[in-house]
Amino acid sequence: MDLKGKTALITGAAAGIGAASAHCFAKHGAKLCLVDINSDGAHVVEELNQAGHEAVFVQGDVANEQDCEAMIAACENHFGSLNVLFNNAGIMDAADGDSQACDENVWDRTMNINVKGVFFGCKYGIPALRRAGGGSIINTASFVALLGAATPQLAYTASKGAVLAMSRELAVIHAREGIRVNALCPGPLRTELLMSFLDTEAKRQRRLVHVPMGRFGLAEEMAQAACFLASDASSYLTGSTFTVDGGITAAYVTPE
Ligand code: NAD
Repeated sequence: MDLKGKTALITGAAAGIGAASAHCFAKHGAKLCLVDINSDGAHVVEELNQAGHEAVFVQGDVANEQDCEAMIAACENHFGSLNVLFNNAGIMDAADGDSQACDENVWDRTMNINVKGVFFGCKYGIPALRRAGGGSIINTASFVALLGAATPQLAYTASKGAVLAMSRELAVIHAREGIRVNALCPGPLRTELLMSFLDTEAKRQRRLVHVPMGRFGLAEEMAQAACFLASDASSYLTGSTFTVDGGITAAYVTPE
């Protein structure tokens, strides 16, 4: 996978999949504009720059339209172009639940970050990709866009279904402009987002029963997949539901 000569913007880059992808993209030659609501993203940029890579940090909230416009402008101003847009930032609210337990404010916050954040990223990112002559958009959905769970997280699940459907339509709309759009659907991962939701060993083991590989995925394994989707190695791939999930969506009964 070769990202030399490409500039990539990654949201949610202070931790988890975003931070691992920043390291992976940089290793393959990309210049990086890293965005996060959390100022910790600046540390990821420091690590990359110390290792001889080119990266800048933009603090911003993907649910805020002005912040999304500003992050794309910052990337183009600093590097001259945008070639890869990785709309990855997302939340799973601890107060999410079933239709009775999930409050309107949890629903709205989840939708604003997980769905509207991707929309705003595309709204401002697509004109920049056009100016660069095309590019790759990767939107992080989830395996829960494909499977229902009895441990409810209704707002989160609905938000990821929306990201998956939106990604497909974006792919069709922009295919002839050389802009590819794919939805990365991670399985359950050992990152802060899921581990703080599955906050006991019993809850974690309960989830692992459904994963044929019998373990949580790693942020680095999602980064490899994102790097493939970002690079020209995936040049004929668009509109895909790109599941990287330890086999969870393939399973009916898992091994003992
Ligand atoms: P994480 O919590 O480790 O990292 C998410 C990052 O997004 C954090 O740095 C956080 O500060 C940032 N962020 C949150 N809200 C933001 C906002 N409004 N604006 C900008 N940045 C914001 O999570 P992760 O596991 O790396 O998740 C990344 C993506 O993968 C999310 O979209 C998540 O829904 C999805 N996902 C995760 C799993 C999993 O099991 N962890 C599974 C499937 C999908």
